[in-house]
Order: sequence, then structure tokens, then C-alpha cells
Amino acid sequence: MPCKHCQTSPVISRRYSGEVLCQICFFKSVEKNVEKELRRQIKTLVDNSDIRINKVGIGLSGGKDSSVALYLLDNFCKTRGIEIVGLSVDEGIEGYRSESLECAKSICDRLEINHSTFSYKELIGTTLSELLVTNPPEASPCSPCGVLRRRSLNQMSKIAEVDCIVLGHNLDDFSQTVLMNHSRGDISRLVRMAPHQYVQAGFVPRLLPLRRVPEQEVYLYAILRSLEFHDGDCPYAAKAQRNLFRKILLDLENKQPGTRHSLLNGMEKIRHNAPPPSTLTLCPSCGEPSGGEGPCVFCREFGSFAV
Ligand code: SF4
Ligand code: ZN
Repeated sequence: MPCKHCQTSPVISRRYSGEVLCQICFFKSVEKNVEKELRRQIKTLVDNSDIRINKVGIGLSGGKDSSVALYLLDNFCKTRGIEIVGLSVDEGIEGYRSESLECAKSICDRLEINHSTFSYKELIGTTLSELLVTNPPEASPCSPCGVLRRRSLNQMSKIAEVDCIVLGHNLDDFSQTVLMNHSRGDISRLVRMAPHQYVQAGFVPRLLPLRRVPEQEVYLYAILRSLEFHDGDCPYAAKAQRNLFRKILLDLENKQPGTRHSLLNGMEKIRHNAPPPSTLTLCPSCGEPSGGEGPCVFCREFGSFAV
């Protein structure tokens, strides 16, 4: 079947929408989708918190999602006079991260974007690989890694003085997180998910412009645009709790195309009826945002590692 717009050979057939698109129409469709999300997410933040967006940070792992997010963000910001800074976190994962950070650096160099890296070694004096040997976590390695990454990104964003930070989470990542929060009955976490709608003191808001683009399409876009990216998985990824949700969602999407989009839309309807978030409590030990009274999760779990 040819492209529905221009009758040329297709590169994709979308089961969730029934569209068949050629390369040019696929590019246009992804770019329009991402630009619309960026405009909407920035407008919501600006309207709710009365700020200006002059400088945006982007979390760069060097993988396909962050490379595509950077390429599209660069197109968006260039015409609007917004500065971009690339921010990478080096977890210190042997045999994996250094290669992907090379890709992050290389795409930043090509687009003439400043890039900085912050490591877990600088944050807690040890790499993730070393930490997993000395302090093996009860659950998946992703639990401590997630705490350290959120901390690193927030600190880097504050140092770089960015107004918000863009992350490359795609539709699959986003709908998995929605499903995980639903399955735990954690509605307060569901409504607090990025893209953030309010600026809160001590916390740099995060935007997710790729959240309506399926993972497979991000991959296809990166390949067809010949973007540099590292195509590999973290060696600990197989132990991630979200793998179960990934599997369930792939099965659901296969049997009922459009499930991922429905989860996203349902989350937005719930959030629309939720009150604005209350002021964030700050950790008495480190001054970073904490989930409630008392020390934040970083100080509770890594306080003894402070360098
Ligand atoms: Fe960290 Fe888990 Fe991601 Fe690996 S897969 S980088 S351990 S969060
Ligand atoms: Zn703290």
C-alpha cells in the first residue's frame, strides 16, 4: 500500500492510526507531533508559573531517544532564540556508558551545543558498578540508579541555570510509567509525572516532547535521519521492574492498537481534575526537594557516601 498522502513507497504502517506513510510524510508527522507537544508543554509551564524560557537543558544518554529529542529541540529553539545545554549523567557502568557518552558529545559538537557531564563518582564517590558490588540492592539496580540520576540531573540543571529540562522519554516509556502507577494505585505520583505543569522551588521542571511518539518510530526516525546514537542496552536493564510492564503493554498494543495513547490520554484527564501541587518540602539535610517530612530519599540511602 503506498503513502496515504503522496502515493510513494511507504516506510511505516501505523496500526494505531491506520496510516501508511512515506519517508517525507513520516518525518513531517513526527516533527509536527513533537513541535506541538513542546509548544503545549512550554505554554502550560509559562502560563501557570509566569516565567520565561530562555535556556533549556536536555538530558543526553547518547541513545536514540535523547539524540532524536536533541535534533528536534534544536530545530525548535533555533527559530525562537532559546539556548540549549546538553547534560549527561555518567553512572559509571563498565563497558556501556563511555561509548554512549561519546555519541552524546558527538551530536552536541555537530549541532554546536555546549555539553557537560556529571558522574555518580563526583556525586557519591563511587561508580554504579562499584556500588552494586559493595552495596547490592535488594531490588533491581535501577532503584538506586534512578535516585542518583534524578539527583544528578536536578543538580546539573541548577548549575547550568536552565529554566527546564527536556528528556527523551517516548510513548512506550511514558505509558509503562502510567500503567505502573495505576497498578500501584499511586494516583498522586501519576498526577506528578513529567511533563511538569508548574515550576516548584528547588526543582527544575521536566518536559517530554517525544511522549506521543512510539519507541519504534523514534528508532526509525533516528536511522532515517542518520543521527549519531548508541544502540545498546545497559547490562542491568534486564533486571528492571518495568520490563514486566513493557511486556504487558506490547501484548496489549498488539491485540488492541492504541492502548499506549489511551493510557496517556487517560492520565491527562485525571491530572486535569487534580488540584495544583502543594509546595515542595525541602530536605533538612541537603536542601533538595524531598517527598515528605524528614530527609530526602538520596540522604536516607546515600547520606553516608556524601563526598
Ligand atoms: Fe540505571 Fe537501570 Fe537505566 Fe541501567 S537500566 S542505566 S541501571 S536505570
Ligand atoms: Zn537530602
